[in-house]
Amino acid sequence: MRRTFTKAAVSVVFILLFAGWGSVGHKIINGNIAVCCPPSMNLPATWSPFLISHASDADNRKGTDPTESPRHFIDIDAYPEFVANGYINQSYNANVTLHGSSWVIKQGTVPWAIILWEDSLKRAFQQGNWNMAMQLSADLGHYVGDGHQPLHCTQNYDGQMTNQSGVHSRYETDLVKQYQNLIVYTNDKASYVSDISNYVFDFIYLSNKDLDTVLYADSVAHAVAGATTGTVYLQKFWDLCGYQIIQLMKTASKSTADLIYTAWIDAGSPDPNGTSPVELTSFTTNTSIGKVTLSWRTATEINNRGFEIQRTTDNNNWIVIAFKNGNGTTTNPNNYSFTDNISDLNVNKLSYRLRQVDFNGQSQYSPVVLVDNIIPVNYGVSQNFPNPFNPSTIIKYQIPQNSLVSLKVYNSLGQEVATLVNGMVNAGSYEVQLNSSNLSSGVYYYVIKAGENFVQTKKMILMK
Ligand SMILES: [Zn+2]
Repeated sequence: MRRTFTKAAVSVVFILLFAGWGSVGHKIINGNIAVCCPPSMNLPATWSPFLISHASDADNRKGTDPTESPRHFIDIDAYPEFVANGYINQSYNANVTLHGSSWVIKQGTVPWAIILWEDSLKRAFQQGNWNMAMQLSADLGHYVGDGHQPLHCTQNYDGQMTNQSGVHSRYETDLVKQYQNLIVYTNDKASYVSDISNYVFDFIYLSNKDLDTVLYADSVAHAVAGATTGTVYLQKFWDLCGYQIIQLMKTASKSTADLIYTAWIDAGSPDPNGTSPVELTSFTTNTSIGKVTLSWRTATEINNRGFEIQRTTDNNNWIVIAFKNGNGTTTNPNNYSFTDNISDLNVNKLSYRLRQVDFNGQSQYSPVVLVDNIIPVNYGVSQNFPNPFNPSTIIKYQIPQNSLVSLKVYNSLGQEVATLVNGMVNAGSYEVQLNSSNLSSGVYYYVIKAGENFVQTKKMILMK
């Protein structure tokens, strides 16, 4: 997801989905990271399959975490100083001072996401938190991959400024899918990076330069094929930029390995096979109405006091919901499970993780598991957010079974001013946006009616 559009005065939030190199491309990039890492790192064999299977976790988080989307791109050529000089100030805060934070976030933040993730990875290595290090490395591969996708480094991200709309998915999805078997490359050994920020911005600037090749290849292929679909079009497109794609992915894998290697060196070169007190071999969830059951299994345990079970509904604030005793020290496999009652939560997605704690007080986190498409137990409507608002606000509501739903907005005189929902709605959780462009300041009420007899009214304040 890259942009959120608001259509008409009152509308559902429309979402346009762009996924970097598509799930195929991100898997190829992440699959070539561990082989670039030097043998001295002693990475366990589990790293490579983990990095591949978690190559698109960062894209999947966009659904639950509203701060996620900007981390996947930067419209670097929207910066006047880039147009003038070919570079921008590398400090996030300096850009916020210069342009304002909402402008900076709107242009995308991929270079700063990469820098932040590299720093977090260093800390995970220092703490001996290998599961966390693997997860952060998988994300790092994703963000670095996005930073090597030319259409993720320009404001002309879908060719919309050059009459080539749709080129984004033609390039990253159609082309990569069609020719994935030709995307094979040998890997260079990772090297230490002395200035992370310079290093990251350099490859972003290069990606932006690679845009010309992508747009040229698309327009020639379009002219030759007379269309932007089909094998003739794809073949010509590939002929003109397939080599570039392979080079970009190869560099993305190597660059990620450089950053992982650097984090590891800076953390003091810990042995990733060394001290993990508890080896977790699986961690899965099973959802039924109102309940999520977590199951996990350990291969061995050393000095294991137990597991804190942590949950987040916003991908940001984790709360501890239970503690499960461990088995101390054992070389036998052990199975654990815990059932979480979520009937009062009114969310359609949440995430869990385990914090394994040993008797010395040391701890490590499991990977995060996401549970989505939760069917709510009850009808519900939330207080709008933000409130008071200007110019727009979001209202969330939950429908436990397919129902006739109406959601309308009234002014303080009881006159209807907007209809947000009116019709059959499938079971699930939803959000709608109210845009106030044709409303004046004041108190408003929204009323939801759903199913046989669910009716609820809430008050909100528009302050212009
Ligand atoms: Zn992405």
